[in-house]
Amino acid sequence: MAQVLDPQLKRALAERVRYYNELGIYDFYRREPAEANLDTLQDAAILENPAIQPEQRDSMTPRSKAAIAEPVGENTFEVTNPKSESGVTDPVQALRLIREDLGDCTRCRLSKQGRKQIVFGVGNPKADLMFIGEAPGADEDLQGEPFVGRAGQLLNNMIKAMGLRREDVYIANIIKCRPPGNRTPERDECETCSPFLMRQIAAIKPKAIVALGAVAAKTLLAINAPMSEFRGRWFDFRGTKLAVTYHPAFLLRDPRQKKETWKDLQMVMKELGMAIPAKGAE
Ligand code: URA
Repeated sequence: MAQVLDPQLKRALAERVRYYNELGIYDFYRREPAEANLDTLQDAAILENPAIQPEQRDSMTPRSKAAIAEPVGENTFEVTNPKSESGVTDPVQALRLIREDLGDCTRCRLSKQGRKQIVFGVGNPKADLMFIGEAPGADEDLQGEPFVGRAGQLLNNMIKAMGLRREDVYIANIIKCRPPGNRTPERDECETCSPFLMRQIAAIKPKAIVALGAVAAKTLLAINAPMSEFRGRWFDFRGTKLAVTYHPAFLLRDPRQKKETWKDLQMVMKELGMAIPAKGAE
């Protein structure tokens, strides 16, 4: 017999389905109710609870087996209306057009919540490797460049440990404006902003992407899973290899995980055909 859904739950489900549709996800599968509840709770906690600090986000309690991350193939953000750079093959020009299209963006509430400037992205427009973090913090908001604070210094060390320079790679975030108090980006902010990131990725065409931390991984892959299930494997992101490692802000809090991060970076280097130096990130 058909089950009658509570109207509030129905609305919430409809909203969630719409959200995934907007991310380009149309195929859903069914989980056992107990697991689904757990998943929903943790999903809500990670995406919607501003009180969760980055290090907590990365060290969430292990999830049930049902949460094992699965590659999602094409099931990611749609590149919405990339009119301005369509047909442009030069990534420098394409990035410039995307930046122009972004303008002095007021598409979401962050433009009115104390953002000083838009943090577009930085680095080599022809980079083989792209790092994607979560959102600009105070330093990035001031300087207009991603990862320039303490977490940025550590990211620089990670890049250096790989035998690269910061200017060899491209660095961006899921969203381009600082959320007040560095809270976790809201779902609608990610929805509004991430199409520009998708266009940046499409323009740069990196050989590999490294998602920094659970929020970046979950948003890009639209998979709800703990870091333990994201790390140590490759995902397909619209035909580009995507790996996940700890967010540098988390590593500042728990430096013991640098060893693990180094393993992730070595996996990336191997994929890119790079020689592996003996020593990892400090
Ligand atoms: N954390 C991020 O996720 N991005 C930045 O640019 C800085 C800190």
